[in-house]
Amino acid sequence: MAVPKRRTSKTRKNKRRSHMRLSLPGMVECSNCGETKLAHRVCKECGSYKGEEVVAN
Ligand SMILES: [Zn+2]
Repeated sequence: MAVPKRRTSKTRKNKRRSHMRLSLPGMVECSNCGETKLAHRVCKECGSYKGEEVVAN
């Protein structure tokens, strides 16, 4: 059975795992209240979308 000759260094291990991170969801500032919100979603702070479309608050 093949056995590793050298211990994998922290640098090498971390470099390999650099591709494993999760991508962040698209976050944008609400145009109404300035709160950070998910892109293409109704703002959860003020319930607005595209300026006016207000959902029950
Ligand atoms: Zn808002």
